[in-house]
Amino acid sequence: MSLIVQKYGGTSVGTSERIKNIAARILETQRHGNSVVAVVSAMSGVTDSLIKQARDITLKPTDREMDVLLATGEQTTTALTAMAINAMGGNAVSLTGGQAGILTNNIHTKAKIHDITPTAIHRHLQNGVIVIVAGFQGHSTTGHITTLGRGGSDLTAIALAATLKADHCEIYTDVDGIFTCDPRIVPTAKKIEAISYDELLEMASSGSKVMQSRSVEFAKKFQVPFEVRNSFNNNRGTIVKEETAKMENVAVRGVSLEKNQAKVTITRVPDRPGSASRLFGALADTNVVVDVIIQNTSESGATDISFTINKEDLEKVGPTLESVATAIGAGKITKHDGIAKLSVVGIGMRTHSGVAAKLFEALSQGGINIQMISTSEIKIAVIIDAAHAEEATRLVHEVFYPEREIS
Ligand code: ASP
Ligand code: MG
Repeated sequence: MSLIVQKYGGTSVGTSERIKNIAARILETQRHGNSVVAVVSAMSGVTDSLIKQARDITLKPTDREMDVLLATGEQTTTALTAMAINAMGGNAVSLTGGQAGILTNNIHTKAKIHDITPTAIHRHLQNGVIVIVAGFQGHSTTGHITTLGRGGSDLTAIALAATLKADHCEIYTDVDGIFTCDPRIVPTAKKIEAISYDELLEMASSGSKVMQSRSVEFAKKFQVPFEVRNSFNNNRGTIVKEETAKMENVAVRGVSLEKNQAKVTITRVPDRPGSASRLFGALADTNVVVDVIIQNTSESGATDISFTINKEDLEKVGPTLESVATAIGAGKITKHDGIAKLSVVGIGMRTHSGVAAKLFEALSQGGINIQMISTSEIKIAVIIDAAHAEEATRLVHEVFYPEREIS
């Protein structure tokens, strides 16, 4: 008998009908001779509306109370799913994160899993009961309800699959898997059969929001392969696992686009030890994440430094930048917010040459100017004008995944 951990995201449980749909699927999985633990998210939109409700009461709720509030979203879904299974003649029980034995630290709203003691889960499974666990939540060592950060149900599922040594872990969503590009931008994008943890992590940090990054890091660390699938059909999904030699046959696994970026340039930064440190030290203190950084060659003892951040953070860093620039004796600061980051990702890049050349050629064909370039072992990213970002994405995808292969 296999043990299967399934996770159903917000859209998969978004209505009563959908809850009945996944209940039937869970029951079917059990009737094929498996033990099933299903982790469920809050119904789509519920977490956001709970946050809004809190804001209507106060702009400064404590993190503890936010956790008590937000955990209700997932708790609602567990009860409804268990009821649906029971109404279909199955035998299911719902558990909160705490009841499932998920112990976390005390950092409310972004708690880390400390340990899992799945005694209750094991007991129910031994009795042939299907266990429905509330995603995204746990119980702190001091006895409070905690949550694991937005998108945390993915983490609950991966962590449970690791602890229970599940035979399969399936992450159900509303698309067929992970695609070579966002199909809303590139309708010809193809479903990826298998992708490595590292590629998925790079894609997630480049704008392809498929899963919570922390959950993928966890899966990599504890070697938990999983499949991303569609809860609305029976198609095979995308397998996410440790890389294999065969995976290197393809140079580019996926093309990602991240919009809403901004570029900041500080001119005439004195070219001496400590300038960059003071600048980025001050930015770090604002908790803003800096992405691509470029420093030009210096001319007459000064250099320009450019970097990108999220567009929303532009206002936040303004005063800090002004004061550091003055303190280090730099020149003027320019800011542009119509910027996007286009990335190609693939472990095959380590062994295939010419990937950058192909990427740049595609952009040049489209007359698209590259403002910044950044690379890692398995990624090449370019910063371009947001106005042409979708067109650029289509051109680049076409180069690596030609729709009509030339025979
Ligand atoms: N309901 C939570 C959220 O919307 C957790 C999750 O869905 O994974 O972030
Ligand atoms: Mg989610």
